[in-house]
Amino acid sequence: MERCTKALIYRDNLKYNFDQIRRHIAPGVRICAAVKADGYGHGAVTAAEAAVESGAEFLAVASAEEGAELREAGIKARILLLSLCTPDEFQALADFDITPLVFSREYIDGFAKAARTRFGRTGQKTPVHLAVDTGMGRIGCLPQEAGAEAAAIRDSGTLELEGMCTHFAVSDGVSPDDRSYTARQFDLFLEAVENVRRAGMNPGIRHCANSAVIMTEPRMHLDMVRPGIIIYGYYPGDVTEQYLRGTGADFPLRPVMALETRVLAVRKFRAGDSVSYGRTWSCGRDTEIAVLPVGYADGILRRFSPGMQVTINGRNYPVRGRICMDQCMVELGNGSGVRPLDRAVIFGPAMSGALRTAEDLAEAGGTISYEVLTSVSRRVTRTVV
Ligand SMILES: *Cc1c(COP(=O)(O)O)cnc(C)c1O
Repeated sequence: MERCTKALIYRDNLKYNFDQIRRHIAPGVRICAAVKADGYGHGAVTAAEAAVESGAEFLAVASAEEGAELREAGIKARILLLSLCTPDEFQALADFDITPLVFSREYIDGFAKAARTRFGRTGQKTPVHLAVDTGMGRIGCLPQEAGAEAAAIRDSGTLELEGMCTHFAVSDGVSPDDRSYTARQFDLFLEAVENVRRAGMNPGIRHCANSAVIMTEPRMHLDMVRPGIIIYGYYPGDVTEQYLRGTGADFPLRPVMALETRVLAVRKFRAGDSVSYGRTWSCGRDTEIAVLPVGYADGILRRFSPGMQVTINGRNYPVRGRICMDQCMVELGNGSGVRPLDRAVIFGPAMSGALRTAEDLAEAGGTISYEVLTSVSRRVTRTVV
């Protein structure tokens, strides 16, 4: 039994997007593929396998549980934990060989203890990466504290500093203000690296480049890049395909996910009849309305209507009225020829028959493609094609 509302994952497009990344970074630069949030909604294991086949050495997750899922699927690549976890998850990190970003003494000491439980007798060192807050305002030590934090890692006895990283706040903006803020963050990161060197330690793998920086700032690639959204075929923020073409960059991407369903009823409505909860929309004419079995519990957020369009047999039709939990309605007009069981595509790459992308849907809902993709809920089956 399979529900007709499903997400198709075009595996070749994942590989295509990785090829584009590889083409734009120097040969020695490593890739850490962000597969957090279930691979931005695409399936973490599918995304991770494609990443590893494309030469990614590191995978990035947001929780110990996400890392454990990859290990349980047999994935051997290095795994970096980008967010913080509670001390009761430290042992799982050590046991599943998940490498945390660290920056505070208590966190370093707590994780060192878990690492000692696992490796204490062998004397094997457990790698960690030192996070530096250069202006993102999220996690990390201040650049001037980096030397002392690196020393705390060394002095723990069981941990070793394998890398240093920072994260940008406005790298997907293209205004002069945003660009200079990013450049300033980068300079502060290099200062933090120098502080660690001056304190007599090797900073290891230096990494800061997210998708936007990979595409716009080759000098910031350093030793490793951390692509996320571009793996899945979307451009971050204002760094659009059009913007990149204007700068002479050539960075084609292919959306990886298509969200599809089927028309389950085609009904005739009279002018003035209202559609859905709240009666926010009424037919301006006699028209056919299609009922689709997809709603906000599948990730088609209520705020996507009005504005959302669905592609049926190569034509776009507007969603009308409020999106319900499990259903939504589409205005077909008259003579569309649309029949029950016809395939309806909500977004996806052109090869899926979609005329809309997750970016178009994001615009309709005042959000970003990241949120559209990660909102596709668990009950939507992912089928790798
Ligand atoms: C999610 C994330 C990335 C990837 O970001 P994109 O904008 O999707 O490329 C990189 N680094 C960190 C720390 C992240 O949290």
